[in-house]
Amino acid sequence: MSNNVVPAVRHFLSDKVEHFTESVIRDMTRQALLHGAVNLAQGFPDFPAPDEIKRAAQQAIAADVNQYAITWGSKNLRQAIARQMQQWQGISVDPETQITVCCGSTEAMISTLLAVCNRGDEVVVLEPFYENYGPDAILSGAKPVFVKLRPPQDADGEWAFDERELRAAFHPHTKAVILNTPNNPTGKVFSRPELELIRDLCVEFDVLAITDEIYEHIIYDGTKHISPASLEGMAERTVTINGMSKTYSVTGWRVGWAVAPPEITNAIRKVHDFLTVGAPAPMQEAGAAALSLPPTYYQTLAEKYAARRDRLMPALTEAGFSCFRPRGAYYVMTDISSFGFDNDLEFTQYLVKEIGVAAVPGSSFYNDPRDGAHQVRFAFCKRDETLDEAARRLKKLSTTR
Ligand code: GLN
Repeated sequence: MSNNVVPAVRHFLSDKVEHFTESVIRDMTRQALLHGAVNLAQGFPDFPAPDEIKRAAQQAIAADVNQYAITWGSKNLRQAIARQMQQWQGISVDPETQITVCCGSTEAMISTLLAVCNRGDEVVVLEPFYENYGPDAILSGAKPVFVKLRPPQDADGEWAFDERELRAAFHPHTKAVILNTPNNPTGKVFSRPELELIRDLCVEFDVLAITDEIYEHIIYDGTKHISPASLEGMAERTVTINGMSKTYSVTGWRVGWAVAPPEITNAIRKVHDFLTVGAPAPMQEAGAAALSLPPTYYQTLAEKYAARRDRLMPALTEAGFSCFRPRGAYYVMTDISSFGFDNDLEFTQYLVKEIGVAAVPGSSFYNDPRDGAHQVRFAFCKRDETLDEAARRLKKLSTTR
């Protein structure tokens, strides 16, 4: 057998996969393992999930909830999702016709895009953006149109879009806008006036909003999360995506959902059915238990994350990073200009191999890698010991160059 199989099989590949790479975020986790680095790259907690929900999952398995759930989600979980949307955001949802439970919000997003996009449809994406959205758009045949969120001038300012640039991105071919609030990687939480402006554009251009709200409950400094679907005129043109991963610290359970008007839900359910049939059944039962936790759970969650943010940020600043203070989600986006590296890739390679800390290069969040060449993202969904060990290692940075 020849080793030289790559050119011979290339013609078997889809053109689509030529247009994106594997996830840099997930690659950084593999590199962290390889080099024994502290992993502040991929956003998953390294602390235990709540006992109540682990027990609920164990009980579900023991009670033999081990076969397929209804393809669009177990009734219990859908009812719990509808109850929560009413309670937290005042959004009325029919669990029978408007909810599709998927294998994580990742699948909810790609199922939604596959369900609504035709070849050539444009999808507006605010950047920096969570890296999945790019390949998601390509796989669904859509063309992403990027609009910049510009970094604040000082550490306490807000990332912001330019109203004219956003308007200019909406065209007759625009099918949807993808919104992620609280935002990964910037930590921005979109304000009501900003969301109203986006709403007005969606109405004027007859565009669907696809909102990724996976960090809904991870918010700081008294900031409020507003679900775009709760704005007047938006319920009928919004797909709200959320999931268990971040709120309940169970990223490996793979339970997420898409909430949409019934006709759109029908289309999402069809795609979801043929992609994955259903999300893990016992985890869905545990999901229903998780969504029934008392309000104090969410308050404590946010407080603990605020403490983690306030533990990591000073260490980063001391090591020479300029930090953009997040209002939500569990990442700090930083500026690395002071270190004198050519770009973010070189810097993160140095960081993981020589310093022993894995982070995500900023370019993975931009369409044009040059835009992120001086930015690096750190995740702080980690135990105090992990953050402290990272801080200890990062101290070496300032003295090494
Ligand atoms: N959302 C997480 C991040 O941005 C990772 C999610 C994933 O890898 N599926 O790091």
